[in-house]
Amino acid sequence: MNIHEYQAKQLFKAYGISAPQGEVVTTADAAVQATHSIPGDAWVVKAQVHAGGRGKVGGVKLASNIDEVKQFASDMLGSRLVTKQTVVEGLPIESVLIEKTYPIKREFYLSLLVDRASERVMFVSSIAGGIDIEEVAENSPEKILTLQVDPAAGLQSYQCRQVAFDLALQGPQVRALEKIMQGMYKLLLEKDASQIEINPLVETEDSELLALDAKINFDDNAVALHPDIVALRDQSQEDEKENKAQEFDLNYITLDGSIGCMVNGAGLAMATMDLVKLKGGAPANFLDVGGGTTPEKVCEAFKLILSDKNVKAVLVNIFGGIVQCDVIAKGVLTAVDQVHVQVPVIVRLEGTNVEKGKALLNESDFDVIAADDLASAAEQAVALANKEGKAA
Ligand code: ADP
Ligand code: MG
Repeated sequence: MNIHEYQAKQLFKAYGISAPQGEVVTTADAAVQATHSIPGDAWVVKAQVHAGGRGKVGGVKLASNIDEVKQFASDMLGSRLVTKQTVVEGLPIESVLIEKTYPIKREFYLSLLVDRASERVMFVSSIAGGIDIEEVAENSPEKILTLQVDPAAGLQSYQCRQVAFDLALQGPQVRALEKIMQGMYKLLLEKDASQIEINPLVETEDSELLALDAKINFDDNAVALHPDIVALRDQSQEDEKENKAQEFDLNYITLDGSIGCMVNGAGLAMATMDLVKLKGGAPANFLDVGGGTTPEKVCEAFKLILSDKNVKAVLVNIFGGIVQCDVIAKGVLTAVDQVHVQVPVIVRLEGTNVEKGKALLNESDFDVIAADDLASAAEQAVALANKEGKAA
């Protein structure tokens, strides 16, 4: 689960991590009001969306007077922000954060995440913060420092000093960095966060260290243990289709290809997506309808897949282990009927009662293709999706 920058900064403050003074507002008038309680004569107006990369596309603006604060807030509120990290339609801006501006000397990168390879929590830091860290990682990996924390010993002072020296911090800044790192470590453990990212962590002209940006992801499997974190959820920033899928206990993730995939079992779903790619196509989604799926679930899954306008063909790949193939075939036909499917549907069934299932599909009046094996099913799906795509 993601939260907004302003919410992350509130958590930061509770854990002793210094962040700019600011106020979140939902109207331009409230933005003007906010400037009265934030000292200074210049402010930053920041769009609150669940995505980074805002600075490059006008989602973070420096206002040098109150009129500009009002103008920027009113321009942003109610519009959508498209960044490198959002879907093409972007995300709605329903609130903006008004912050004090700080004169910046240097911008660093500092994050804490769960490193699966070492099975430990790991800090990643870089003297080259502020810009795309992915670019730094690719072009100048020597500028990135990683540091794993031993879960039994916890984060040690010498480790924090190591990061501080790498960032060329001096004097009281070394202590200040340790406070920030200890705060991040405690926050990650106590709230079951999976990642905390500060980009940029800045050194101001007054040599102060501040988290100018804040991003926190929480582990979805643990978030229910933290009602205070659940309360921070903002559904306006989430994918509608993914939320709908959750309601029906379907594992669904939107992707940007043209072939809707309906599969039972996560492993089979991954294999199906790989095969679609191998045959030259691109999956429109990941969808696992679960091992013991029902005709109702199959129907809901179809609705979900077809609500995506990019879908030009649907590939159904079901292994009838717990559930029987003829039951699935009936589910597919009911769905095709109810949902008025307009695109080709290719079905690959395998397992119990497979012949019965295939016969049902072949005998039906609907334009459903029963494929003989997975490879030919994927091939047909790609060919038909390309044909539909060109016709559209
Ligand atoms: P994003 O990562 O989404 O682009 P950031 O919060 O990192 O958004 O802001 C982008 C840039 O804007 C920062 O790298 C920093 O240079 C500048 N900035 C952001 N907040 C402030 C602030 N309070 N004072 C001065 N500059 C800021
Ligand atoms: Mg940033």
